[in-house]
Amino acid sequence: MSTPLTFRHLFGPGPSNCYPEAVAALGHPILGHLDPLFIEMMDSACEGLRQLWGTANARTLPLSGTGSAGMEAAFVNSVGPGDVAVVAVNGLFGVRMCEVARRAGAEVVRVDHEWGRPIDPERVASAHPNPKVIAAVHAETSTGVLSDIAALGRLKGDALLLVDAVTSIGGLELLADDWGIDIGYAGTQKCLGVAPGLAPFTISDAAFERRIQDPQSWYLDLGLLGGYVGAAGGSKRTYHHTAPVAMVASLAAGLDRVLGEGLDAVQARHAAAGLALQEGLQDMGLELFAEEGSRLPSLTTVKVPDGVDSAAVRAYLLERFSLEIGSGAGEFASTVWRIGMMGPNANPASVVLVLGALKEAIA
Ligand code: PLP
Repeated sequence: MSTPLTFRHLFGPGPSNCYPEAVAALGHPILGHLDPLFIEMMDSACEGLRQLWGTANARTLPLSGTGSAGMEAAFVNSVGPGDVAVVAVNGLFGVRMCEVARRAGAEVVRVDHEWGRPIDPERVASAHPNPKVIAAVHAETSTGVLSDIAALGRLKGDALLLVDAVTSIGGLELLADDWGIDIGYAGTQKCLGVAPGLAPFTISDAAFERRIQDPQSWYLDLGLLGGYVGAAGGSKRTYHHTAPVAMVASLAAGLDRVLGEGLDAVQARHAAAGLALQEGLQDMGLELFAEEGSRLPSLTTVKVPDGVDSAAVRAYLLERFSLEIGSGAGEFASTVWRIGMMGPNANPASVVLVLGALKEAIA
């Protein structure tokens, strides 16, 4: 017997609850991955992703895999032995970038920042005279911090700017072309309001020209993936791997939902929900973790009050309200909670629900 299906309010760091349109699309009849109807669906998803990334890059596609597959693809295609990768670290995902870059063979120059604070673009950009890649996380889910990618883009020089937008895409302003992002990866399960399973990815022509030939990952080789989505132009597709057709259908539907509402409206909804939650938590006497001025609307970090058992509160919320919030990350695992307001959950009713439930749980 499998576990009974239960509805959860997903207010953790992801996955978030999904847009109903994205869930409904999972029930569509399965199409062949070279069926003209599926190709239309994939084209529509790629076009929608271009709008969310703020890019005209032809090579913008949903990679098959979660956000981590996007991270792997970004590094294995851009750095190898002899290349320097400068990585800004202000949380767990920056640390993970260093590890992925190291395994790709790069010489990693790690620029550490205090967790809870944004990256310092000048310090990052001046960490090495001639890096091939400068990498940073736009929205650090481990700490709830937003960093200024546009500023880093202005300082990158000849380096390729590689950015993690897992917790910003579909909820926060993201202007890859204007900000100088050369390679970007994201995830579907956060502000985009689609189930986990795909990694929205984009790479500029210039970065594609400077890519690693024959990267050690065959599956994530962007040179081979061009034909999979027709990035080289035209409607002809070549078989590379079987597209996860149900997930792509769901993504296409989710993107239609988001773009139908309008990116400005979606971003405003995330901003308002994040701010209302942060004000409400402070009104309850709780202290926020991320530095003021750099707080993500999509993911709020709040300190667990002294004397309160962090895990017991989370268990209470799950049991009594079927409501999930996240623990902290790394050394803050039991001293910080992480509360997401993402996708369809970014609304005033969610804020009231989370604040009320949390008040009862810590009373
Ligand atoms: N980068 C960031 C900023 C994330 O928040 C996450 C996941 O939460 C990842 C990368 C990894 O994505 P995934 O867990 O979908 O593989």
